[in-house]
Amino acid sequence: MVSLKVINNQLGYRNGHGKKRVLVPDVPAARGIFGDAIFTVFEQNDFSKYALNDPRQIPHTHRASLKRIRSDFGPWLEGDFSHLQANGVYQAFCGNEPGPSFAIRDDVWCRILPECLRFFQIMSCGRNVPGWHGACHLDDGYLKDENRYIEAAGGWHDAGDFRKWATSTSLNAIALLIAHRLWSGREAQLGVEEGVFLREALQGVHFFLGIQDATTGALWQAIGSGREVFHDNLDCRFTDNIRESGDERRIWPGWAQPAAKFTTLFALYANTLRDANPDLAARCLAAARASTRFDRATGIDDADHLQWRAWAFLELWRYSGEDGDRDAGLAALAQLLDLQVTDYIGGQQMTRGFFRGEAGGDVFHRKHTGASYPVWVLGEYLDALPAHPEANRWRDAMTLWVDGYALVFAARNPFGLLPYGLYSAPSPEHPRCHYRPLGDRLFFRYFIAEGKFGTNARCSLDAAALAAAARALDRPELATAGYRLLEWTLGNNPFQISTMNGVGVKQPCALSFQMGNIPGGVTMGVFGDEQDQPWYPHPWACTDEYYGYQTSQFTWALAALQTVAMPACAKGVE
Ligand SMILES: [Zn+2]
Repeated sequence: MVSLKVINNQLGYRNGHGKKRVLVPDVPAARGIFGDAIFTVFEQNDFSKYALNDPRQIPHTHRASLKRIRSDFGPWLEGDFSHLQANGVYQAFCGNEPGPSFAIRDDVWCRILPECLRFFQIMSCGRNVPGWHGACHLDDGYLKDENRYIEAAGGWHDAGDFRKWATSTSLNAIALLIAHRLWSGREAQLGVEEGVFLREALQGVHFFLGIQDATTGALWQAIGSGREVFHDNLDCRFTDNIRESGDERRIWPGWAQPAAKFTTLFALYANTLRDANPDLAARCLAAARASTRFDRATGIDDADHLQWRAWAFLELWRYSGEDGDRDAGLAALAQLLDLQVTDYIGGQQMTRGFFRGEAGGDVFHRKHTGASYPVWVLGEYLDALPAHPEANRWRDAMTLWVDGYALVFAARNPFGLLPYGLYSAPSPEHPRCHYRPLGDRLFFRYFIAEGKFGTNARCSLDAAALAAAARALDRPELATAGYRLLEWTLGNNPFQISTMNGVGVKQPCALSFQMGNIPGGVTMGVFGDEQDQPWYPHPWACTDEYYGYQTSQFTWALAALQTVAMPACAKGVE
């Protein structure tokens, strides 16, 4: 039975946030004797000063009706306090039931940025992290089939254990390099040390260079993972740190994909290091070039490959200034934009602007880590080439995604979630699962059908995409939609659970066998059930597992959203 809860995110809101909301389940206990549902929000500091014994009785409480809303997640009672914009520490109540306290101030999300950085430090491999682990795995790793050793020390552990997945941990570096690009020289405004994003990103540079195969230009995917069978945990152990002594961890044969993601990674490193360390920058550039060879060899032109290829060549052009790099990037971007659905399809008039998975197919672009990279890449192009003849088309594509897709779905549920995926038909692989119909040939789900992947990574990526759109389209109000997706992670969900470790007042225990709960770690997060309703299964279902990319994309979104000015509405300031 659903009990009375007062739900809001457990950190707070920037002053200009346009959708400050409290959610209460529609249960009898939420209503007074006349059937009315009321919520109050009070400012704790003013309460302390004036409410108890000061004759002036300065107003410290906002009191209003909860509005009953119908949504894709059923009926809820929703209270709006967006007009509260003054700095302060607040708490909401419904009857005698309190919600978690929260702050309103423009830099409130900066409070948890040091936690994100702490997560990456603790996940660092080959580095002494007092209280957590010594310098470890300095002897990684061994290719059994080829009976040879490669230099795979460094990088990051992943998933709360000691395995080092290239596809996942590369997003740690990418997110940190983006944060560095956005905030370099201004880190003090975020309350973190100057240069810290770059320093933490460099934790991965020699690791990624080391796991690139010289012949193909591809990177090995699974380092320290799979001793007897793929994905086993037998190498989640410490070693003697002495190279070629015989206890080295294995590298499971198999390449990390998509290749252009690693081209992007190396090109980002090269651009960032160009002045400070030209030799290392040149090595990264050579690695990026080698990665393009492997990308070409795969010959795959789906959205997953094109989004990274478009970004990769833009970064290569930023370094080289060569027309060939720019043209290759523009060609990939044009192919990617051809995959955007610009008409109302499938017998509905509600949504468009999303992307197909590949040309001519009826599968739409989706991935458990998120599928909003194209929007971020459009932002990078508009930033780098604002006067290009195609720039208006890029802005139109971004606008279509925002107004035809993101905001449309965000309005259908009380948490501002976007879908996991759209479908041209319910999947026969999951006959028990409900696919929400939009038209006779278009369906969607907010949550993966029977898949063990939560929502946090893709919500963060969607938030980063909305931040890019807010900047590129000069629509700062889009930052509100972005923050709502991070609020889902920080407790604004039906379970009132914050799925970032150490942040918030109610938390699950993390599935992290080697490390235990890691400060700042964002877990997989809330799942969905067969009926596509939010679901929080037992921890062993991996809801509480840390993959690096969840915290990476959360950090990415945090850094990007904070660049958007969110002016408080003058009329609403109290
Ligand atoms: Zn290690």
